[in-house]
Amino acid sequence: RHLYGGERLNASGLNLADHAVQFHLAQAWEKAGKQSWQAAPIVNGHRLAGNTCLIHNPADRDDIVGEVSLANAEAADQALDAACQAAPGWADSDVGMRAACLEQAAELLEAQMLELMSLIIREGGRTIPDALNEVRETIDFCRYYAVQARRHFAHPITLPGVTGESNQLRWAGRGVFICISPWNFPAAIFTGQIAAALVAGNSVIAKPAAPTPLSAAYLVDILHQAGIPQTVLHFLPGSGSQIGMQLVSDPRIAGVAFTGSTSTARQINQALAQRERILPFIAETGGQNCMLVDSSALPEQVVQDVIASSFNSAGQRCSALRVLYLQQEIAPQIISMLSGAMDELRIGNPMQLSTDIGPVISDSACAELLQHCEHMHREAHLIKALQQPPACVSGSFFPPHVYEIERLDQLQHEVFGPVLHIIRYSANQLDEVIAAINRSGYGLTLGIHSRIESRIDYIQRHTRCGNTYANRNMIGAVVGSQPFGGEGLSGTGPKAGGPHYLQRFATERVITVNT
Ligand code: NAP
Repeated sequence: RHLYGGERLNASGLNLADHAVQFHLAQAWEKAGKQSWQAAPIVNGHRLAGNTCLIHNPADRDDIVGEVSLANAEAADQALDAACQAAPGWADSDVGMRAACLEQAAELLEAQMLELMSLIIREGGRTIPDALNEVRETIDFCRYYAVQARRHFAHPITLPGVTGESNQLRWAGRGVFICISPWNFPAAIFTGQIAAALVAGNSVIAKPAAPTPLSAAYLVDILHQAGIPQTVLHFLPGSGSQIGMQLVSDPRIAGVAFTGSTSTARQINQALAQRERILPFIAETGGQNCMLVDSSALPEQVVQDVIASSFNSAGQRCSALRVLYLQQEIAPQIISMLSGAMDELRIGNPMQLSTDIGPVISDSACAELLQHCEHMHREAHLIKALQQPPACVSGSFFPPHVYEIERLDQLQHEVFGPVLHIIRYSANQLDEVIAAINRSGYGLTLGIHSRIESRIDYIQRHTRCGNTYANRNMIGAVVGSQPFGGEGLSGTGPKAGGPHYLQRFATERVITVNT
């Protein structure tokens, strides 16, 4: 356990090498694997009926994980009414009480860690270590935002004034917040947005991503059990383009927290711009993340970090490495070592501890990746393509590919999967490389491998990028240590898991009294 700032503990992990832990995990998996999970719209604590849809395990299409009832327009309207009614009372509630609810949710999550891990593995195709880290991050978000809420919102700030005048700044919830999340972190991002909006004093309507409503329903249940009133937190699994759009277009809402693709963020932004009222829009979006490796870098470390950054979570992380810039002198060695290391990767059932790479989320994700690789076969030089193991035919698996390209602008959009692109550069082209990265417009993560400190500093200061990692992998931001979020096409900020996140969910009011 790490202690941060003397006030908060990050959630502990599990020793996955311990046979007892493996046994308990297998038991939880056995139980969660037999269960048929259910999700439905929940408004004021009532589960609403709707058209149903089956959720399949991406690692095995024949395994039906459960069923979701989809919210319709009427359910969305009811949720908006209910959230509006609850908003003033919740905004007026004691921030200490709201924070305590999040801390209680963290306790419940810790107690049910194995069950939730099993569910996100089965529904989201996460590997065991990924699922473990995601549940820990979910717990961390709850605890961190509880601490931050007490720190920022519990007491008004007294400001100076002339004699006979008192000035106080107070924070208040904004009203109804819409929280829209992606499928690639079905627990952590879903919960992080909601926890922040709630503890800042807003009522919330949460819309999960279509592929992962079951994990989301599980988490809403935990938050309700932890004391968040059912009148304050509502749940609407349903289509993004219909229900999501209806929610963000509704005049009753006070803000939107969104994580997902840049193109969806644009659509939401346009919908928000149609109204009279100007609303806060917190958008965490995609990236075209690069890593620069100069000739002073340590090749073994580079290869290990490139493998983790590109292929962990089957490349389905917004922070994942997409473009590896290698300085000419070191490129042949790194490429050869990378190719060898890739041969050791095991693709397969995410519930086996030996698996490095699980499935991608769906067959349509596979089809998009295949289309990109077909394009790359024509435009680029194939360096390495792993083969899909025969045991994977019943799931949505896509084996890692590596291509060499010439320029960053050959990639027009984010490729969300285990496909890495390599570009060689020479030492005198460093500024051109930096300019190309900035020109892409994205600014999420950046990796640097160099043993020249001044170069790391130079690259970091000249690239417009939210999170830079030097001489390590570029994934797995830790709540409270690496506040996460990008700029430009990658998002609006503020950074999730950082000290300035909650404030965007609240509004400042100043009261001046002539005493
Ligand atoms: P997505 O297709 O943009 O969907 C994200 C969410 O938006 C889903 O809940 C989706 O609902 C909803 N949605 C879709 N169209 C909508 C609309 N017109 N109005 C309102 N809501 C709408 O993204 P995704 O495929 O789930 O997630 C992958 C993307 O997320 C990648 O681009 C990745 O880089 C990004 N991401 C960014 C971060 C970050 O912190 N920067 C973190 C994780 C992921 P449906 O599922 O029902 O369509």
